[in-house]
Order: sequence, then structure tokens, then C-alpha cells
Amino acid sequence: MNISVDKLLSQIGGDHNSKDTLQLLALQFPAQVTFSTSFGMEDQVITHDILSNNIPISIFSLDTGRLFPETYSVWSATNEKYSTHIKAFYPDHGLLETFVAAKGPNSFYESVDNRKGCCYIRKVEPLKRALSGNALWITGLRAEHSPDRKDLPMLEWDESNKILKYHPLLHWSTDEVRGYINDNNIPYNPLHDKGFISIGCAPCTRAIRPGEDFRAGRWWWEDQSNKECGLHVHTEQSLTSIVQ
Ligand code: SF4
Repeated sequence: MNISVDKLLSQIGGDHNSKDTLQLLALQFPAQVTFSTSFGMEDQVITHDILSNNIPISIFSLDTGRLFPETYSVWSATNEKYSTHIKAFYPDHGLLETFVAAKGPNSFYESVDNRKGCCYIRKVEPLKRALSGNALWITGLRAEHSPDRKDLPMLEWDESNKILKYHPLLHWSTDEVRGYINDNNIPYNPLHDKGFISIGCAPCTRAIRPGEDFRAGRWWWEDQSNKECGLHVHTEQSLTSIVQ
């Protein structure tokens, strides 16, 4: 890395201008910045900024095999609008066949262990392959989506994946995201208009009711306190000590 973390943080800290920050990071880590999209509204904002400005950041999605039809539709519409082909990473077929043979196709409803096993095979393991060889991972995480994310820094070290992680829209509000989508005519998942906030796999995502927490729509049959899927594990480790 040819820049100190402190300098990098001072350049990107609190910046709501996602495009300029993405340009800066792509310059700092040539061919080693990648963005994971699940085609939610915030991800579509970042995809738009990358592709409409030709920023050299690769884009991938984790196709778990259990996504909503609407997600595949917005994926196709995005490919078409930006004349691109967003790359997909798939679960290891051997792991998945063994798991489903032993547990059945919907075992995630039966126990937290089964749910975490399914998330590991369909998301966590493919993510490790997708991030391999990269230095920085861009995500569409927003603080509004989980109490765990309130104090999250925009730039953090992901110890489990050994990669720097940057969340350009962490402090954007839902209205800001929607406004950007509308102003720029960006394709978005129509499920957002039906009460779906954070859209993941179809069997594990539902619309939320007025007044419910944003995360109530994911794994609603489980304890509400800790419902991350293992993709985003946050540590307290100092960035400066790791990457300077
Ligand atoms: Fe499996 Fe549900 Fe996790 Fe998707 S969200 S990987 S279907 S447990």
C-alpha cells in the first residue's frame, strides 16, 4: 500500500460523494478493488457510479440459487442498461449436494445451525473465492439496516476475509438512496415498493410491517438480536496496525 491509512481515511471520511471516493480507491489499489452486489437499491447506486463513470472496479454477485425472480430481473436490466455482464459466484456443488441430501431443501427453518450451514455454503464460501486476490471490498451496507452497524467505520479491516472493506453509503438515508435511484433512472428491485428492505434469498426474506425494525424481514423466525449471515463480520482490530 503506497498511502497511510490515516491519509486514506482523511480523504474519504464521511464523503457522501461515492463516485469520487470510488475513483480514489481504484487508483490506490489498481485491479484489486471489487464490489459485491445483491441488486438492492444501495447496491444499484454503487453499480451506477462504477459503470457510468468507467471506474476500474470489478463487480460480482453471489447467486445462492434461492434468489427472488425479481432479483434476476433487475440483474438482467442492469446488464442491459450498462452494457455489462455482472459476474456470478455459485455455491460449490459438492458441498451443496451433500448438505441438501442430509438436511433437505428448507432446513434453515429448523435450526440456527442449519441456517448458518446453508448461508456458509451458498454465501460465505463463494464470497471467499470472489474476494481472493483483491485488496479492498466495496459493500452497500447502510447503518439504518441493523443496530450492529450504527458505529461501524466506513473503512474497516475484515479479519475473516483478510481484506479492507469500504461502505460508501453507510450513512445515506433511505430517502437519499431512493432520490438518487429516481434522479438517475437506475433499475431497482420492485420488491422495495412492496415493503421489502434488505432483499436476500426468497425463503428467508419477507416484507416488513409499518414500525418494524429493518432487519425484521430477514430470518424472522430466529432470535432478533444477531441475524447477520456471516458475510459481514466486524472486529475491533486497529486498521492502522494492520495496513500501514
Ligand atoms: Fe440459505 Fe436462507 Fe442463508 Fe439463503 S439466506 S443462504 S436460503 S439460509
